[in-house]
Amino acid sequence: MREYPVLCQVPGCGAAARHKIAARWSDGFTHEFKTYALTCAACLAAEFARAAEKQRACRLALGETLAPVEVFGR
Ligand SMILES: [Zn+2]
Repeated sequence: MREYPVLCQVPGCGAAARHKIAARWSDGFTHEFKTYALTCAACLAAEFARAAEKQRACRLALGETLAPVEVFGR
């Protein structure tokens, strides 16, 4: 695995991203992660709240499931 610097996605932040905010998505056949944001520790809480809000607004098609938003370290 190659390591490369990933920056926090919050505009104007520019710190190294340490966390991935994502949710497990499935349509019953394939499973994947729906990534909402990559953030540094300082922006994590605010971006997590935004991701949870985005998820609530997201409509799922029949057969699709979306698990609650989770935080993954990197
Ligand atoms: Zn940040």
